[in-house]
Formats: sequence, structure tokens, C-alpha cells
Amino acid sequence: VLTKDERAVVRAVEARAGDLVALVSQLIGFDTVTRVSDEPPRQEATLQDVLARRLRRAGAEVEVWEPRAEEVRGLSLIPAGLTFEGRPQLLARFAGGEGPTLLLNGHIDTAGLEPLDAWASHPLVAEMRDGCVFGRGACDMKGGVAAMVVAMEALAALGYALPGDVLVNTVTDEESTGAGTMATVARGIVADGAIVPEPSSMAVWTACRGVTALTIEVPGRSGHAQLAQPSWRDGGAVNAIDKARLVLNALDRVNTRWTANPALAHPLLAGPRAMPTLIQGGEWVFSYPSACRIDVDVNYLPCQADADGFDSAVREEIEREILATGDDEWLAANPPVMTWWGAVPPYETPANAAVVEAALDAVRDAHGETRVAGMDSWFDAATLSLFAGIPAVAIGPSGGSAHAVDEHVRVDELVACAAGLALVAMRFGHSVSP
Ligand SMILES: [Zn+2]
Repeated sequence: VLTKDERAVVRAVEARAGDLVALVSQLIGFDTVTRVSDEPPRQEATLQDVLARRLRRAGAEVEVWEPRAEEVRGLSLIPAGLTFEGRPQLLARFAGGEGPTLLLNGHIDTAGLEPLDAWASHPLVAEMRDGCVFGRGACDMKGGVAAMVVAMEALAALGYALPGDVLVNTVTDEESTGAGTMATVARGIVADGAIVPEPSSMAVWTACRGVTALTIEVPGRSGHAQLAQPSWRDGGAVNAIDKARLVLNALDRVNTRWTANPALAHPLLAGPRAMPTLIQGGEWVFSYPSACRIDVDVNYLPCQADADGFDSAVREEIEREILATGDDEWLAANPPVMTWWGAVPPYETPANAAVVEAALDAVRDAHGETRVAGMDSWFDAATLSLFAGIPAVAIGPSGGSAHAVDEHVRVDELVACAAGLALVAMRFGHSVSP
């Protein structure tokens, strides 16, 4: 049940619905497609500047900084050689009372724009249709970022005294590596709970799976495809695509074992899985393929993480199974070469954490029935939880087509999300003892 003050805050956020849509639309207009390699920055700095101005106007103390290489070198999730030049991070502090600190965190980078021609309207020009804002980043997650900002503006305009500090943190490089929020952690961020408004359809996400990429190079030996070949021991050709089949069988064995293991059934998350997603092999239709490369997307559960929160045990299990193709004599003598990259850890916040309760209550009051759920892919809450010890959840507006053509966000849930965030911000200190 809402108090009189809380009702006033919800109404104030609802009165800003037009402004919220305008801000989401403005943010969509900045090209902040995530980097795939060491491409130059896009419009990250301009976007952060727009947010910084608004947050300062609402009374926050705002820092916008480009993390220096020395600050982040060697940290998990920060690839060697990565720099933040032209890609600043933002941290705003709304000062409150002595109560616990709440962190609102969102990423400003987005998936790419292709296939551009397939969009009903240009991905960088926001368009309102059927109660939704369409454009790249609409739900993932410029909508959530705009909701954080408008929630705090509404509270500030009412002059509501916050029980504890509220931090607003907008970062780059979530979609690519998770480096942006890692840089916030390196800055020494401290908070008692965090909300990341990813598009959860107003459910409260409290867990996600870890992800690792595996590249497997399966060796063969070239030769004329139509001529009889001596044994490989006598220099004969070896079909790398045939050998890759044995590697795929090994992955099947891992997946079958994982699916059958009741200890790997998670109430909120899909089970672990190693799925081949890319295969390249051979040189010419009339030659034995001399090599075959398989890329594998590996997703795993919090309970499979090692002591550091990462994937070493999962890696070992998969490697062992792939090397067990060694009853094939060629592969025993020429084992597949495995390269692991792009690891991000899984996480889980306990259901009794203060921020989970606060998020559930706020969504119920601002929107309606909700539930605790999990995110099968990875998001920044894992970084906040694992590396900064901040219990973290997501609540965000639904839409659709994240990372796909015609991405959009529902305006009614955008407003409900902003109202929910405002309610958590005004209650968090009262509902938890510091
Ligand atoms: Zn996202």
C-alpha cells in the first residue's frame, strides 16, 4: 500500500511520461553500437554528456571519466590492450541520509544496426507505434537508462529527502565484454544494493548464467579428394570435417550428462549447455579439408563456477571430453587445439537480500503482480555482485527484439519502471538497516 508521499511520487513520474519517451528517443538517436574490436568511439561521450547535464540539474554530483589503462589493466572482463578513450563512464551521486546506498546501473552501448534494410523504421530514429518506442537500444537498454534518470528527476523535483545515497551509473562496453561496469568497480564503487533496468518485463531477475566462448581447431591433412590415400601414418590425407564430427559428439556427451544431472536443474535458469554456433572447414570441394574450426557458446550455472566465480571447472570438463576422442588415433596424435575467450561469470542474489524484497514491493505497487526470475544470458549485475559484493537485480520494461530488427520498448512499462525505481530509491533506506 502506498503512503501519501509515495502516491505523489508515482503520480509525478506518470506526469513525466512524455519527457521519458522524449529522453529514450533522444538516446536512441546517438549511435552507441558496441565495439566489436578496436574501432573508434561513436557518440558515447555526447550521450553521457546529455545524461550528466540532466543529472546535475536534478542536484546530483556527477563524475564523467575515461578510465585509464593503468586503472583497469589486468582486471577480469577487460581485454588486454583495451582503452576507454572517447568512451567515458558516468557516476552520479544523489546525496541522502545515513541509510544504505542504492545503485542504479545501466549500459549505453547497443547491438549493431544490421540488417538495416529489414527495419520498419531507421534504428537510430526513434518512432512511436502501438504504444511502443522503436529503435536500436529501446529496451536493451536506453529505455531503462532513461527510466533511471527520470525517476531521480521526479524525486528531486518533489524535494523528497532520500534516506540513503542513490548512485546513477551509466557505462559503455556491456554488450562487448562487460568492461564498462568493471571499470566502475575499479573506481571503488560501494553500495548496499543495485538495480540494473535490463528488459525483464517487470520481473525481478536475481540470477544469470555465465558465458564462455570456445574455439576448437580440428586438424586434418590435405590431399586429392578423389585419389586413394595411404594411412595417415604413411602421409595419407585426413578429413578434418570427419574428425570434427567426433568433437561434436564429445560436446553432445557433455550436454547429455548436464541435462541428466538433477544437481544442474536451476529453478530460475535454463540448464548449462555447450552449443556449436559457427563452423568453418575445408579449402576446396575436390580436396581433403586440412582444418576445421568450431566455435562453441558455453553457458553455465552459478553452482558450476569455481572459487573465483569463473569457468575453470566447466572448461576442464569440456576439454577432458574432447580429448577423449583420443581413441581416434589421428586425434590422439594430433589433438584438437582449444582456445577459451570472452568469459563472463554467472551470479545469483539470494531471495532474502534487501534489494530483492525492495524491488518486488516497488514493482507490485507501481505496476502489478511480479515474480522472481532469472536471465539466461549474461548482464552487468553479475559484475556488481561478484566483484563489488553488491547484491544486484534487474527490473526493466518489456519490449522485444533486443539484439534484433525492430527493437522496441513498451511505454506503459517504461513509466512503471521509472515509478518502481523511484519507489525503491525513496524506500531502500527505510526497509533495510544499514
Ligand atoms: Zn542489455
